[in-house]
Amino acid sequence: MNILILGSGGREHSLAWAVLQNPKCDKLIVAPGNAGIAAIAECATFDINDGAAVVEFVTENAIDFVIIGPEAPLAAGVADALRETGVLTFGPSKAAAQLEASKSFTKDICDASGAPTAGYAHFTDADKAKAYIRAEGAPIVVKADGLAAGKGVIVAMDVQTALDAIDDMFGGEFGAAGAEVVIEEFMDGEEASWFILCDGQNVLPVGTAQDHKRVGDGDTGLNTGGMGAYSPAPVMTDSVIQKAMDEIVKPTVAEMAKRGMPYQGVLYAGFMIKDGQPRLVEYNCRFGDPECQVLMMRLGAQALDLMIATADGTLDQARVNWADDHALTVVMAANGYPGAYEKGSVIRGLDAMPEDSSNMVFHAGTAAKDGAIVATGGRVLNVTARGASLTEARDRAYAMIDGIDWPEGFNRSDIGWRAL
Ligand code: ATP
Repeated sequence: MNILILGSGGREHSLAWAVLQNPKCDKLIVAPGNAGIAAIAECATFDINDGAAVVEFVTENAIDFVIIGPEAPLAAGVADALRETGVLTFGPSKAAAQLEASKSFTKDICDASGAPTAGYAHFTDADKAKAYIRAEGAPIVVKADGLAAGKGVIVAMDVQTALDAIDDMFGGEFGAAGAEVVIEEFMDGEEASWFILCDGQNVLPVGTAQDHKRVGDGDTGLNTGGMGAYSPAPVMTDSVIQKAMDEIVKPTVAEMAKRGMPYQGVLYAGFMIKDGQPRLVEYNCRFGDPECQVLMMRLGAQALDLMIATADGTLDQARVNWADDHALTVVMAANGYPGAYEKGSVIRGLDAMPEDSSNMVFHAGTAAKDGAIVATGGRVLNVTARGASLTEARDRAYAMIDGIDWPEGFNRSDIGWRAL
């Protein structure tokens, strides 16, 4: 099978790494890829958000299966363009991807299916939004409706902060994403993510995870794209998982099918869990980054079979062969991230890193230059390890970091603290 993966992050490096372990893969191309991906697969450059350009590349290169990594091509309808030409595709349609692209759409699905989530109201008028905030009081959560790369959510602990957020959003700070705002009840509890493959009808969970959004140790400092993750997440107990499946995931999948927009791809569900009860925080319509890296390390070669079954509608016949293992990834980022950071610094020591089914450095923002690996992004490396326990996985990951010589980068030293 000739396979194309779209994307360039640590998520796509880990997808490529898992796919290549499966003998069904004859040839793998990643677009656009990065330096780590280029070391294991062919990379190509074209506009991955342009359905016509993707279809042209797929046709010219006799691609049999396309895996779409990030959300932007999904929201742009690339999966629809591929399916129209009959290409097997992993990733939901543009209509189904509204579960990530529009918060008011997701709230409406929750209402229709009875899924527990925060109470909410949505507004296109600033004065009405402010009156609602004054009536509800704080804490309260203000969200730009559309995609804002995780920056369009203000968890306001006082009323003034929430009112200021309304001014910012209607003032255009988040562009078109802020033309409508969703105001939510504040939910207290512990957050966890769950990844569920859906073929439109059938569902198959592929693991729980917890990520670390804040830049600093002890969950302090600014929000980031994610500084590390581990799987499984102990807060997702069997009973929480059962409730999340019966009360949230299955009703969502059924409601999407009923509306004529069956969900086909991975459903990434974020929950707030309190007293053993999960409530939905958000859906994303792709694997999380860095959560994907720990899931792929746990799934290995079978990930490809599972993604094919998702795409061809045979998930009812698929099952996951779980090992009783744990995986953990630590993100190494450029000094200054998530603020301004320098590009082009050289990373040394990567050649000596172990690379096997339990140890892998997945690349995110890297490029090869004059025979060296240089940093080109904010989040740069995902140092990932697997072990019989979370402690073992963590110790292996940090031992690898000790061997990486990159003074211009940093990492959190406490990934996994909540579970450990
Ligand atoms: P991302 O995809 O980067 O997680 P997003 O823009 O899709 O972000 P959400 O996931 O909806 O936004 O919210 C971001 C974060 O804000 C959540 O992970 C959670 O920590 C917090 N949050 C969101 N909604 C609530 C809520 N109702 N109560 C408490 N915290 C919330």
